[in-house]
Amino acid sequence: MLPVLEDNNLYRKFWVNKRGIAYPEGYHLGKDFGLDIGKNVYSVWNGIIIEAGLHEGYGSLNPSTKGGCIWIKYQKDDKIFYANYGHINIDKNIIIGKEIKEGEILGIIAHFTNHGVYLSHLHFGIWDSKEKYPSNHWGYQKENDKKHWVDPIPFLKQYKII
Ligand SMILES: [Zn+2]
Repeated sequence: MLPVLEDNNLYRKFWVNKRGIAYPEGYHLGKDFGLDIGKNVYSVWNGIIIEAGLHEGYGSLNPSTKGGCIWIKYQKDDKIFYANYGHINIDKNIIIGKEIKEGEILGIIAHFTNHGVYLSHLHFGIWDSKEKYPSNHWGYQKENDKKHWVDPIPFLKQYKII
């Protein structure tokens, strides 16, 4: 399933390059789903929680501001991949190492602003590899090299998760 039930399509698509406008690191490593604070965020498939906590860059549009972020390792048939869910208030039932099912609630959309402008959304990224994702993530990178980052919606369709 999709990680949220709504999307106002006002936010950033995968790999859009904002470099030089708001901050130096431009390549967006996921798709943003725009929706209201408090809306549920769901696990797209059955997986294992790898990380859950506060990370820099997930609190506001300032790389040093911390906010809630979850990483999950998934397997669908022979395909292994990781997904990250950012800018959320993490549900109290989410514990590192725990198995999670498709459709289980991971948390809710958190308050997120840029200079006072209301920008609540889910950052959703997919790392298409059984190798673990890079640990220095915050949703963007400088280099024009996708490595194993992929556009989430086509990926989920390709593997019949949506
Ligand atoms: Zn994002």
